[in-house]
Amino acid sequence: MSGPPSIQYVKGVGPRLAEKLAARGVRTPLDALYFFPKGYEDRRRIVPLRSVKPGMTVPVKGQVLGVRGGGRGWGGRRLFEVVLSDGTGRLSAKWFHYRPSLAERFRVGETAVLCGPVRLFQFRLEMHHPEILAAADESDPVNMGRIVPVYPVVEGVPPRTLRKIQWEVVRKYASTEKEVFPRWILDAADVPPVHESLETLHFPPPEADAETLLSFSSPPQQRLIFGELFYIQWVLARRRSGVMKEVAEPLPWDREIVAEIKKRLPFRLTDAQRRVLNEILKDMSLPHPMHRLLQGDVGSGKTIVAWVAAMVAWRKGVQTALMAPTEILAEQHYNRFSALCEGLPVRIVLLTSSLSAPKREKAREEIREGKADVVIGTHAIIQEGVEFREMALGIIDEQHRFGVLQRAALRGKGRMSPHLLVMTATPIPRTLAMTLYGDLDVSVIDEMPPGRKPVETAVVAEGKRNKAWERVRKELLAGGQAYIILPLVEESETLTLRDARKTYERVREAFPDTGVGLLHGRMKPGEKESVMRRFQKGEIRILVSTTVVEVGVDVPEATVMMVEHAERFGLSQLHQLRGRVGRGSRPSVCLLMVGGEQGEDAAARLSVMERTNDGFRIAEEDLKIRGPGDFAGVRQSGIPDLVFSDIVRDARILARSREIAITLLERDPDLSDPEHAGVKGWLERKDAAASAWA
Ligand code: ADP
Ligand code: MG
Repeated sequence: MSGPPSIQYVKGVGPRLAEKLAARGVRTPLDALYFFPKGYEDRRRIVPLRSVKPGMTVPVKGQVLGVRGGGRGWGGRRLFEVVLSDGTGRLSAKWFHYRPSLAERFRVGETAVLCGPVRLFQFRLEMHHPEILAAADESDPVNMGRIVPVYPVVEGVPPRTLRKIQWEVVRKYASTEKEVFPRWILDAADVPPVHESLETLHFPPPEADAETLLSFSSPPQQRLIFGELFYIQWVLARRRSGVMKEVAEPLPWDREIVAEIKKRLPFRLTDAQRRVLNEILKDMSLPHPMHRLLQGDVGSGKTIVAWVAAMVAWRKGVQTALMAPTEILAEQHYNRFSALCEGLPVRIVLLTSSLSAPKREKAREEIREGKADVVIGTHAIIQEGVEFREMALGIIDEQHRFGVLQRAALRGKGRMSPHLLVMTATPIPRTLAMTLYGDLDVSVIDEMPPGRKPVETAVVAEGKRNKAWERVRKELLAGGQAYIILPLVEESETLTLRDARKTYERVREAFPDTGVGLLHGRMKPGEKESVMRRFQKGEIRILVSTTVVEVGVDVPEATVMMVEHAERFGLSQLHQLRGRVGRGSRPSVCLLMVGGEQGEDAAARLSVMERTNDGFRIAEEDLKIRGPGDFAGVRQSGIPDLVFSDIVRDARILARSREIAITLLERDPDLSDPEHAGVKGWLERKDAAASAWA
């Protein structure tokens, strides 16, 4: 045989249809087998018109009472209407694009069978563009008397034709698809083998439950979902076990360094900070690399944890690299670390791309020669030409801003495998964390430093803008500082900038005696830094900023934040932003301005921000509303797009697939057991197809 057979040779498909199908990616019978319905219609029984309710999509049958329309330009539209009666009620079927072939199908007095969504119009039942099923179709096993699949639209292929093609494909090819998973995995996952799945997914058996199918919770659907999620979990489990086998420099702590650290701590650590530090330091003391994610809400105090880890590494005479996503943040860390280490012979070096060439060269030299103990910087750290003498601890702050490749690049800067700590302030729902960070151990700081007051949050309609400004004024009078945040205009940076400048001018007019600053992504790093510094010092009291300020900036005197066009932000992003206030001892407020047409919807969606300050709850909510695609870190993760699965809906299978992947890896790491030959081959094919990620 030369390659897979073309779809063209399936019964009922000629060259013309084959072309249309190919345009949708369906080239072979196998493609067709995996081209799944997007929904189903329950056509098992003809429903008497008396029992038909709006919202149903059901087959109805009746005598044609009348036919209207057809080119006469009824109300300006080429409408065609058929009125049916079955003795229990009447229904009007409407088509908004008259074709002569339509009229030919209906004769007054004859019986017609139609199927389509029912709606109510002026107290009468209507169907728009129903499928016409001739009376003889009642015995048509493909289109009637069963739960019928509804496929995604294929341009130029009518639904009934497509269904017929799929029927042929399924009957001929479904049983030739071999199940790759051994029995024990299918049992553990509680799913049926694949050939059963494929058949019933396209043409569910008579006893199937349409509701279950529509919610993707039928066993055959679960089988496909399982396969998709299992592959991801397998790759993650394999990656994790690979890392655990590598050799790393053990970095145990000793009494002297612990005493030194304790002496220097500016505050008492929270229980949560102490707990995660124990987890981290224990990992670091082992001869295998730590690979740990530290999750903690905005302001929960992750920086000090990173500093302690760096101090332990310094004590052992090795280098630490700390990478942050923005210059502002890198500088802030640099300043904090420097203050914490004051008087100790720890050489801390800042490496960002805005350093002048000679300074950068000097920094690189210190890093190469090992004079630099702690290197703090941006992406500049992982660039070519940066060589460490011995980097044994890598820390990534705001990990969700980086991708897997950058994580790997940082690891690559170590001489052996360095210990790796990645931190994120974007709370990630457990389910999502499992896919995004399934190859990492996870520590969570689930407690805020004492004395924090939750940020009072209000969604403010455009009409109440003056009140919002009053509030800002009040906070300023009480000695606070303010952020005014503007969303990025997606289409254009220039527009964003114009928005920001305009707002800045307006605020300056409204507050003539107050220092007002502007911060945006187009500014040179040096300019940004100087604005931030002046804000930190209180010379600037109102900072108008685009979302560059989002990440990690710490100004305790800031007590009010006003977010313009809050509806354009995701909830988690708003939560991040809100974390910029409420960092000091005074209570803070966050005003979410919504305006325009989506005002009401937006207000409803944003109201969760008023109700809770718990980042995890907000993240769960966000995941439900927007799905994982928009979640910070998902795109960068490189994880293949999910076709069948939805990690919110399929959380249980996700958890199960993870357990099974880990079990399989433990039992048979090389998949050499003949029982696993099928799954081995399948995984290899998947790897080849997804090489960039796996
Ligand atoms: P994030 O987790 O968002 O990175 P930071 O590390 O920036 O948070 O800490 C936020 C603020 O809380 C900082 O000003 C820090 O000094 C302070 N902080 C951290 N831990 C404690 C603690 N245990 N007690 C009091 N203040 C703390
Ligand atoms: Mg931080």
